[in-house]
Amino acid sequence: MSILVAPKALEGHSVREFQMLIDGQWVGGESQRSLERVAPGHGVIVSRYAQASAGDTERAILAARKAFDDGPWPRMTAAERSNVLLKAASLIESRLEEIAFLDAVEAGKPITQVRGEINGAVDIWRYAAALARDLHGESYNTLGEGTLGVVLREAIGVVSIITPWNFPFLIVAQKLPFALAAGCTCVVKPSELTSGSTLLLGEILIEAGVPAGVVNILVGTGAEVGSVMTTHPAVDMVSFTGSTGVGRLTMANAAQTLKKVSLELGGKNPQIVFPDANLDEFIDAAAFGAWFNAGECCNAGSRLILHKSIATDVVARIAKLSAGVRVGDPLDPLTQIGAIITPEHLQKIETYVSSAATGGARVAHGGAAVNFGAGQFMGPVILDGVTQDMAVAREEVFGPVLSVLTFETAEEAIRIANAVDYGLSAGVWSRDFDTCLTVGRKVRAGTIWMNTFMDGASELPFGGYKQSGQGRELGRHAVEDYTETKTLNMHIGPRTGWWMPR
Ligand code: NDP
Repeated sequence: MSILVAPKALEGHSVREFQMLIDGQWVGGESQRSLERVAPGHGVIVSRYAQASAGDTERAILAARKAFDDGPWPRMTAAERSNVLLKAASLIESRLEEIAFLDAVEAGKPITQVRGEINGAVDIWRYAAALARDLHGESYNTLGEGTLGVVLREAIGVVSIITPWNFPFLIVAQKLPFALAAGCTCVVKPSELTSGSTLLLGEILIEAGVPAGVVNILVGTGAEVGSVMTTHPAVDMVSFTGSTGVGRLTMANAAQTLKKVSLELGGKNPQIVFPDANLDEFIDAAAFGAWFNAGECCNAGSRLILHKSIATDVVARIAKLSAGVRVGDPLDPLTQIGAIITPEHLQKIETYVSSAATGGARVAHGGAAVNFGAGQFMGPVILDGVTQDMAVAREEVFGPVLSVLTFETAEEAIRIANAVDYGLSAGVWSRDFDTCLTVGRKVRAGTIWMNTFMDGASELPFGGYKQSGQGRELGRHAVEDYTETKTLNMHIGPRTGWWMPR
């Protein structure tokens, strides 16, 4: 088992009330309904959000449309937009503790981890501010004496941004500042489970100088609000992060009006380990990759593909390390694994574990939920002897569950790594860089880590192959993703006529 840290009661905390942001105004919504969030680590209500209806969503989209078609934001200089984004980054920094507390209680994440995520988000806002000033097109002065070609990058228009619950503040930072940098206007829908920090971001953006209607934030269900955001004809692009199933639906919805779609979806990410790897480094990275964010992470290293000769030793060492991992109170600064997002999700994770055990996998560590009397928790689970036909080897569990498979040759390892529908990320471990590069180039995934896992930087593009998504976030092209390309084909001097009377 792991070290258990029972959550302390949330003393002195009152339920935080939020409204929605439409056209620069905080409003209650036409139906006056609300949604309540029960903290997954504490079992008490911590937030109450005004719930948007389809009508509120329509108003938000039309406000964004007007702000794009007639408002100042797309017409400002890039330097002016960049300055607003920089101010937003500094304001986020100054409210870091408030944002971190909200994400920790609403998502059940460890507070120390959330602080890191928010600092990461600040860096992304600053990176987007820098990219804003470098957004430019191309010119062609090589098309002949009579022709000059100029290729413009124009903001694509109104963008619907839909985000999940597992990294509420970080994921919106991977989208919104880049859309704003390009000059777009947006309607944002965070997950109804963890909307608080995105609503705080709305306050920050107003203070930073984002004009009314440029960023609208709605809390509501995917079925009611998300479906309007992905089908409305006034929306030009949808940027979605979430499950592969809803991503597929989003694409089908957007296809009705042929919107541009960017999708960041699920993963079943392998870590391939050769016998010559630095196993001390790997053991730590394996635990981090699998237990970070309680495994509720698209990038989780949820499949170990170990060379047969080292498998028994590696599993025993990861189990030993996991016994010292601290599970429990999200607000304890030493906690490493916090709460599971909902009771239903915990049940889903338990079903994966029990059906793997029934199917012949050996539970090498953990396996049962942790009961603190309130909230829902699960410590690390290691499943050894997993085979490709088991659901835990192919499907995204989204919990602290590590599946161990083995290989004998590099070709076999690559085959196993590629034998799933996902292709988000992968790790390769060997002291021989030939091995790392040969294997890394053959694994079909958007990010390959070599002798490390889940590192990242604002400069490095992120996204998936296959059913892990479409498009890339971050990196130097991130702002371009929110643009249209326009060609100006200019003629100089007399034209050569198409029909010249002879
Ligand atoms: P979901 O797909 O269930 O939800 C994601 C968002 O989509 C939520 O805001 C949800 O709203 C909304 N939504 C639900 N139904 C619709 C609909 N019909 N139309 C439009 N929007 C809709 O994912 P989860 O929130 O459960 O997040 C977990 C998933 O996200 C995992 O599969 C994970 O892999 C993936 N993910 C991918 C990342 C990546 O970058 N590749 C990063 C992080 C997570 P609501 O839930 O409020 O109803």
